[in-house]
This record gives sequence, structure tokens and C-alpha cells, in this order.
Amino acid sequence: MKRLVILGGGESGLGTALLGKAKGYNVFVSDSGQIKKKYKDVLTHNEIEFEDGSHSENQILNADLVMKSPGIPNKVSLIKKIRAKGIPIVSEIEFASGFTNATLVAITGSNGKTTTSSLIYHLLKQELDVGLSGNIGDSFAKQILEHDYKNYVLEISSFQLDDIIQFKPKIAVLLNITPDHLDRYDYVFENYIASKFRIAENQTKDDYFIYDADDQVITSWLEKHPIQSTLLPFSLKKKIENGAYLDKQEIKITIDNNQIIMPTGNLALEGKHNIKNAMAASTVAHLLKIRKQTIRESLENFQGVEHRLEHVLKINKVQYINDSKATNVNATYYALESMDAPTVWIVGGQDKGNDYQELFQFVNEKVKAIICLGVDNQKLLENFGGMVDVIVETQFMSEAVKIAYKIAEAGDNVLLSPACASFDLFENYEDRGRQFKEAVRNL
Ligand code: ADP
Repeated sequence: MKRLVILGGGESGLGTALLGKAKGYNVFVSDSGQIKKKYKDVLTHNEIEFEDGSHSENQILNADLVMKSPGIPNKVSLIKKIRAKGIPIVSEIEFASGFTNATLVAITGSNGKTTTSSLIYHLLKQELDVGLSGNIGDSFAKQILEHDYKNYVLEISSFQLDDIIQFKPKIAVLLNITPDHLDRYDYVFENYIASKFRIAENQTKDDYFIYDADDQVITSWLEKHPIQSTLLPFSLKKKIENGAYLDKQEIKITIDNNQIIMPTGNLALEGKHNIKNAMAASTVAHLLKIRKQTIRESLENFQGVEHRLEHVLKINKVQYINDSKATNVNATYYALESMDAPTVWIVGGQDKGNDYQELFQFVNEKVKAIICLGVDNQKLLENFGGMVDVIVETQFMSEAVKIAYKIAEAGDNVLLSPACASFDLFENYEDRGRQFKEAVRNL
């Protein structure tokens, strides 16, 4: 019996354990932190051995195969020892994809993965048997075990891609690449780009690679490192023969001379970035032969995803918008760009080495007041102090929202789009977004 050791007892670890056990592996789960009680119960119930609080090397270095949770960095000494012994290390998507013949649609990028994956799922589920997984919801491994859908939409992070061997999506989507997570890539941007491109490394010309042709990082990498896949670019700026582009107010998608045209006026999601996401999603749907009418309707009635430019409430004709998931400058760039009214902007948190310059133009044009919500707001004050009439600081969400309420006038927006991580004041971005919504509802 082959021994499968799983490092990390979270969602992907648990799913891999269950699938591994079902496929006849001798499974051991090890987590240096605490495994959640609900996961422990499932492991015990399924008679799967586990430990938490530390890693017992004698139970790990005897593995035939190791599945490493995406959260564990390569520089950890245990990982080095495993590699030194020549034991293969794979990610959950690599392990799980070996046990299904489903059509895989894999989405990666620095921003927009969850939004676009959810949108693709929404388009496909109208007509196909499809599961949504990866970084969203139930793990891929668990879904293969329990449902074995004919198609999967997978949200894939670069960490998952770092440990693939044969993973081969039929359709890969690369949304954009901006510097992020560089601490895991030796602070070399190229390493991070290379990791993202691994989504296509096993593709052949019968597979599709959908990407943003306006993204310079992607296009110049492709020029230097050509790939086998059939390319289907999308663009807001130029005409695309094979792929998608924006022609005035219409999205035009052409695949093998078969074109579909969709008006953008009624798209449920706002902002240029969401036109890109919609182009990528409809290209996937078109490839998988979803009817044009279905694509159109689904783009119009998609509800969006919580914490991503989420419209919370309108109070005294002021629109409150929760974009708590904007944890980097690029995401906030698109949020501010999409604002069509004077905006009170709530920003700040844990800075990740932000360069705010690309926001200056929008702040000058659209932002009437700034509320800095972080432990250390110095950098925000320095960058934006001279740009708006009102700039204030607070460490409490309820207070930030009350101040915004006082400043905003009929027709304005109040936007929470922090451009920073949340960990200085909140548990995570979800907690931050929920506190925002709660404060708005309490007004
Ligand atoms: P991810 O899963 O990659 O973190 P999300 O869909 O959760 O992406 O969105 C994260 C943030 O990025 C949100 O603030 C969202 O409004 C913004 N965003 C969504 N799509 C894009 C895009 N194509 N380009 C840039 N920013 C985007």
C-alpha cells in the first residue's frame, strides 16, 4: 500500500485525505498548527490517522507521495528534507485531477479569480453538469469523490501551480499579473510570472489559453516563452480575430469564425475590470457551447460575489459599496475607476509595500474625502493629504462609516476599498467587509 502524507489539515488536506483513502492509499495527515474540530471529526470517522501541533518526521519521511497545502512555503525545513529524499510533492489539484476525466476549466491571475470563476460557473451551470472548486467552497478532491461532475471550474492560486506535474486544464484563463505574494518567490517577479504560466505547461494545441492581451506582463512573457495551447486573447483596446474584444458598447467573441455579440449596457457587474472578466467568462462558455441567449441572460443576472464591489445599501441617496477584498492597489484602481459619482473613500490597513501613484488621477477626479482605517496611516496621509479637502483617521469601522455618513451628500458613493491587507484591525477581509455592512445597516 502506498503511503500518502498530507501536510496541512485544512479544506484541501481533508479532501485529499478522503480521496486518497478511497483510492487505496495509506493516509497520514500532519499539521503543525491546530486542525479544526469539524475536520478532526471527519478524519476520525473515516479512520484516517492524523496529528496536529507538530510534524513527526519519522511518520512523514517514509511517504511515497506528499500533498502539501498551498499555505506551506518551500523554505520550511521539513519540505527541504522531503525533497532531499526525492519524495514527490504535489498540490491538491495535481493529486485530485488524476482521478477524474472531467473537462477542467482553470482560472488564475493576481486579481479577479473568485469573481471570474464564480461567473463562469454561473454561465456553465445553466446547461452543464459542473462543480466549482479550487480556492472556493468544497475542495476539488472531495467533489471528485462525492459528485464526480462532468466539468469543473477551478480557481487556482500560484501556490497550487507550484506543485503540479501533469495538471492539464482543457481551458486555462490567465486574467492578469501584477506583483503579489513576492515573499514566496524570492522577491523575483519573474518567478511569480513563471508560476502563473504553469497553468498552461501541460496544454497542447487542442487546449485553450484565454488571457488579457492588454496586460503587458502577460504578452511580453508569451513572446519570449511561447506555449503550445491555442491562444484566445481578450482586449478592451484592440480588435481580436480569434478571441474577444470590446467594440464600442459590445463584446464580440469569435472562435473558428463563429461569432457572438453581447451588449455591455446590461452587465450585472460594473467597472472595466468586470468587462474583462465577462469577456473571459463568455469565451469559456462559448467554447463549451453554451447558447448565446443563455450567456447573455446569465451575464445580466449574475449576483456578484460578496466583498467585491458589493452594493450594500442606499441611504439618503448615498450608495454604500463594500470592496473589502481589494487588498492591493491594482484592485482598488479598478474600484475607483468604476466610480461614477463623487466618492468618500475608506482605505488602509496593513501595507504590502504599496505604491499609490497609479491611484492619484482617480483620487483627484472622484474622491471628495478620505477616511484612513488602519493602525498606521502615515503613508496614506503623506500620499493623499494634499489631494482632498478632508482626510481623517480612525481605528474603528463603525466610526469610519459614521464619518462617511456625515460627509456624503445625495448622489455620492461611500466606498470601502482598502488597497491593503486587513490583519492589523480585522481577522481577515471577510470580517472587515461584514463589519462594514453591519455598520452601514446600523446607520
Ligand atoms: P482574487 O480571487 O483573485 O483575489 P477577486 O475576484 O476576489 O479576486 O477580486 C479581488 C479584488 O480585485 C476585488 O476588489 C475586485 O473588485 C477586484 N477585481 C476583480 N476582477 C479584477 C480584474 N480583472 N482586474 C483587477 N481587479 C479585479
